[in-house]
Amino acid sequence: MKVNKMIVAGIDAGSTTVKVTLYDGMHMESWLGLAGWNPRAEATTLLQQAVVKWGTDRADLTYIIGTGYGRVNLPFVSKSMTEITCHAKGGFYLYPGVGTVIDIGGQDAKAIRVDKNGKVSDFIMNDKCAAGTGRFIQVMANALGLDVAGIAQLDLLPGEEACTINSMCTVFAESEVIGLLNQGYSRQAIMAGIYQSIASRIIAMAATICPTSPVVFTGGVSQNVWLCTALEHKLNMPVIVPEQAVFAGAIGAALYAWEEVIK
Ligand code: ADP
Repeated sequence: MKVNKMIVAGIDAGSTTVKVTLYDGMHMESWLGLAGWNPRAEATTLLQQAVVKWGTDRADLTYIIGTGYGRVNLPFVSKSMTEITCHAKGGFYLYPGVGTVIDIGGQDAKAIRVDKNGKVSDFIMNDKCAAGTGRFIQVMANALGLDVAGIAQLDLLPGEEACTINSMCTVFAESEVIGLLNQGYSRQAIMAGIYQSIASRIIAMAATICPTSPVVFTGGVSQNVWLCTALEHKLNMPVIVPEQAVFAGAIGAALYAWEEVIK
C-alpha cells in the first residue's frame, strides 16, 4: 500500500499487448497483458488489476493518459496522446540523455530523435507494413517451427554464415525461409539472416532522421538480444535496452499525466 494519495495512470494499448503504469510522483509500477481480440476490455481489466495490486481504487486515479494503437478506443482516459510523444518521454526517463529511441512493437516500428528535455525533435514511423516489426519475426519463427521464445534461445554462433533474405514482404520472406530450410540451411543461419534483414530495414528508416547516440531500444522486440546486437553493429552506436523497455510508452503517458495534475 502506497501512502501518497495522488495517483495517475498511463495506458499503452498496443497491437499485441496492453501496458499500464501507475505513478504517484515517487513510486512507479507497470503491468503488461495481452491485447487479445478486445484491447479495450483487456485494458480495462489490466487497469483494474493494477489498482488492486497498488492498493487503491480506480476512482482514486487523478488523471489517466492513453497512448498506443488502441488509444482512441479507451473510454475511461482523461486524455490521449500519440505513442511517439509518450515513447520519447518514457525513453528519456528510462535513459536520461538518450539521443534516439527505436521502438519495435507488434505491428509498427518507429525511430524518434529526442532533445535534451525528452521532447520529440524528429521521428519516422512504419505502421503500413509488417516487415521489420514483431509480427514479421513471429511469422519467420513459425516458419522455422519455433515461437518467439524459441528463436531467442537459438545460439547464433559468431562464425556462422548468415543467409541472405531478399524479400521485405512478410509473405514472400516466409516462402524464402521455407525454401532455405529445404536447401538444408540451419535455423541459426536463417535466423541470423532475418535479424540482418530487419536491422537493415530499421537502420534505413532511422537514417532519415539522422539518429544520434546513445540509442535506446524499446518495445517488445527489444527483448531480443540478437536483433539488438545486429542493430548495434549496423548503426555503429551503442544500443541500450533499459530494464523497463517494454513499458516506455505507458511510462511516458504516466509521466505526462503527472505533469497535468501538478500544473
Ligand atoms: P505493441 O505495443 O504493438 O502491442 P509490443 O511493444 O508489446 O507491441 O511488442 C510486441 C511484439 O514483441 C510481439 O510481436 C512479440 O512477438 C514481440 N516480442 C516479444 N519478445 C520478443 C523476443 N524476445 N524476440 C522477438 N520478438 C519479441
